[in-house]
Amino acid sequence: MPEVGSATVRGPEVFGQDALIVCDSLVRIYQTGSIEVQALQGLDLLVNAGEMIALVGASGSGKSTLLSLLAGIDAPTAGKARVAGWDLLDLSARDRVKYRRHTVGYVRQQTAQNLVPYLTAAQVVDLPMTLARVPGKERAQRVESLLESVGVAHCRDRRPGQMSGGEQMRVAIAVALANQPKVLLADEPTGELDTQTSAQVFGVLREVNRELGVTIVVVTHDPDVSGQVERTVAIRDGRTSSEVLRRTSTAENGDDEVVHEEYAVMDRAGRVQVPKDYREALNLTRRVRLALEGDHVSVRPDGLGQIANPERVGEEQA
Ligand code: ADP
Ligand code: MG
Repeated sequence: MPEVGSATVRGPEVFGQDALIVCDSLVRIYQTGSIEVQALQGLDLLVNAGEMIALVGASGSGKSTLLSLLAGIDAPTAGKARVAGWDLLDLSARDRVKYRRHTVGYVRQQTAQNLVPYLTAAQVVDLPMTLARVPGKERAQRVESLLESVGVAHCRDRRPGQMSGGEQMRVAIAVALANQPKVLLADEPTGELDTQTSAQVFGVLREVNRELGVTIVVVTHDPDVSGQVERTVAIRDGRTSSEVLRRTSTAENGDDEVVHEEYAVMDRAGRVQVPKDYREALNLTRRVRLALEGDHVSVRPDGLGQIANPERVGEEQA
């Protein structure tokens, strides 16, 4: 991402200046009794307006925590988080309501939590607009067009119990889009669905991104998604660790081909995570040699083998 690179080079004051979503050294610590869980440990993420990115990572890596912070449901412990100009560390109760109602749409991880058992699809899509005091006529029109655009117009008078999992998820997406948010956050929207239904729901998200220009962050377990989005960001231990970019280039025979390139993510202090298989292959442990080699940087084992007394070695070098 050239924007990210150049912004980082220019200095901290412009980190993510042009991005719609900016997370800068974001920290969220959960405290239960005397136990502290660092769900996010200094996460950096930039998302530009109009982008659709996938967020992947092992269970417990902090994906849902990040989404609930961005959704304004939960508040960060430290760091910076800005979405469409709103500073999420400094939101008054009133602004938080406004932010959640108008700026972001949020689809929760548990399908059932997105809907209301006794409301029909049309009623549940209408609800956020009623709360936002949208005039009745406009609401009615939007309900129909939203259900239509996510492909569940036939479910308008059905309650959740009368819909399939995929239909419920589409209705949940329509609810999240009701007040025309800039950002749509979807937490494993396909987690409970079979492969074919998942592909359809993902297709709906892509269409919404393309047609409505809504910026989308979608958490997924599905390793095949990187083929469906331009950028896949991996989270590991509460930090962003790598990104896969998808682009189209022209092959030697003149055909267009889709290329996936994986990048490590460097944080603002210059830290990069070396993948486990690289570390194991070269037996890279605590200390490595870095060298500037013209147009790249090399990382090599320290070559000292087992160090009997690390402090002594430190003294000798100093
Ligand atoms: P993911 O969505 O990637 O599976 P989560 O964001 O749900 O991960 O969780 C990240 C870490 O934070 C996990 O170790 C989880 O147990 C912990 N965690 C999440 N929510 C809470 C909470 N409300 N209280 C305490 N710990 C939590
Ligand atoms: Mg989760």
